Amino acid sequence: MAAIDMNTLLVANRGEIALRIIRACRRLGLRVVCAHSEADRNAAYLRVADQAICIGPAPALKSYLNIPALMAAAEASGAGLIHPGYGFLSERPEFAGAVEAAGRVLVGPRSDVMRMMGDKVEAKRAMIATGVPCVPGPDSVLPDDPQAIRAFADEIGYPVILKAAGGGGGRGMRVVRSESELTDAFMVTRQEAQRFFGNPDIYMEKFLEKPRHVEIQIIADAHGNALWLGDRDCSMQRRHQKLIEEAPAPGIDRALIAEIGERCAASCREIGYVGAGTFEFLYEDGQFYFIEMNTRIQVEHPVTELVTGLDIVAMQIDVARGNPLTLTQDQVRTDGHAIECRINAEDPDSFAPSPGRITGVHLPGGPGVRVDTHVAPGSEISAHYDSMIGKIIAHGATRNEALARARSALDEAVIEGVLTNIPLHRQLLDEPGFAQGGVSIHHLEHWLKARSSTDA
Ligand code: ADP
Repeated sequence: MAAIDMNTLLVANRGEIALRIIRACRRLGLRVVCAHSEADRNAAYLRVADQAICIGPAPALKSYLNIPALMAAAEASGAGLIHPGYGFLSERPEFAGAVEAAGRVLVGPRSDVMRMMGDKVEAKRAMIATGVPCVPGPDSVLPDDPQAIRAFADEIGYPVILKAAGGGGGRGMRVVRSESELTDAFMVTRQEAQRFFGNPDIYMEKFLEKPRHVEIQIIADAHGNALWLGDRDCSMQRRHQKLIEEAPAPGIDRALIAEIGERCAASCREIGYVGAGTFEFLYEDGQFYFIEMNTRIQVEHPVTELVTGLDIVAMQIDVARGNPLTLTQDQVRTDGHAIECRINAEDPDSFAPSPGRITGVHLPGGPGVRVDTHVAPGSEISAHYDSMIGKIIAHGATRNEALARARSALDEAVIEGVLTNIPLHRQLLDEPGFAQGGVSIHHLEHWLKARSSTDA
C-alpha cells in the first residue's frame, strides 16, 4: 500500500470524461492514475495518464461500479484524490463515504450533502428553506391514506405528477390528469419506486405542460465562497436524455437568471456545499421551478466553459483540494453563445445502439469548435457502456454564429465503423423551431413523431 499522496488523482470513470479529467490534472500538474475495465484496456486515453490500473471485467457492476476495486486502485497508486466523473458512482453517497473513510478526498460534495441532495424530497425541502423556487406541491412524502392524497392533488390542481423520492434517470414518475386515476397511479408508482430504487417514498408536484429545462452551474469552495457560472438550456431531450445543450438559455430575461443564479449560490453557502454542481429547473411562463440538484460535473459543462472561458473541471479539483476560489462573482463574465451536440454510437433513425470497432475518424476543428472525445481509429465501442462517444461543441459571438459553426463542424465530422447520430444532429440544427430557440422539453419528441409519420 502506497502512502496517501494528495498530488495524485485517480479517475474512477471512462471514455470522454476520463480524458477530460486527465487533461485537467495535467494542467494542474497532478499525477493521474486512470482506472479501467478489461474492455477498455486498449483505450488510447490511458496512455496519457501516468498510470493505468485494471479494476475488473467489462460489466460495470464488476468494474466502474465496484467500490472495493476502486478503493484498492486508490491504495495501490497512493491516489489521495478520486474523481468520479458523471454517471457510474458519481452520485452514490456510499462511494463518497468509502473515500472519506479511507482518508482520501472525493472530487465532489461530502457524502452527507450528496445523500441529502439525492433524496428529492429532502433536496426540495432544503431548496424551499434557502429560498430557491420549487414546483408547487408538498415538501414531504405522501401518506398511504387515499383521501389525504386526494386532498393534496385538489390543493395543487390537476394535472399532477407522482415522483419517486429516490428516483433518477427519468424513471419512477407518473402524470395524473384526474382524480379517477389517482389511487391506481399512486400504487403503481410506489411499486416501481420500491423495485427500481429500493425506496417506496413518493411525492407529488404540479405537472407543468410545456416547460423548458434550464439549469444553473455552480462552484463552491470549502471557505464559504460560492459562484454561479451562468445558465444552460437542455430542453432538446428524448426520453429524458439530453441531446443538444446550449449556453446561455435563449430569450430569458437576464435579470431573472441572475436572481435565480444568486439564489443557487446562496443556497450552496447555506448548506455547506463544496464542489461543482447543477441546479436543474423547469422554466414556464417566466417562472423557474427547481426539480433537482446534480452533485457532480455534467456532460454539458463545456458549453459553460466556452462562454465563460473557465476550466470547470480544474476548478472542481482545486476546491476539492481545499483551495479557495480565486474569482469573485463579478469576474465571472459570459461571452457569446455555445451549443453542444452529444454524439452517440447509435442508429440515427431507430436509436438502436451501434457497438463495434471504429475504423476511421475525422474530427472537425477551426475557430470556435471544440471536440471532447476519446475515440480514435481502432477504438472499440463496447455494448457494456453508454452509447455516448463524444461531444461536438461550437462557440460564436451570437447564437446564430454558434449554430453556423456547429453545422459546419457536423458536416466535417466523419466516424466510420459504427453508426452515429451525426445525421440526426445535422437535421436538428436546421429545424426551424430549434433554430429559432426556446423550445419546450417535448419539442424533440414531437418532431421525431412527425418525422416518422412522414416517412411512413
Ligand atoms: P430524474 O432524476 O429521473 O431525471 P427529474 O426530477 O429531473 O428526474 O425529472 C426528469 C424529467 O421529468 C424532467 O426533465 C421533466 O422532463 C420531467 N418532469 C419532472 N417533474 C416535472 C413536473 N413537475 N412537470 C413536468 N415535467 C416534469
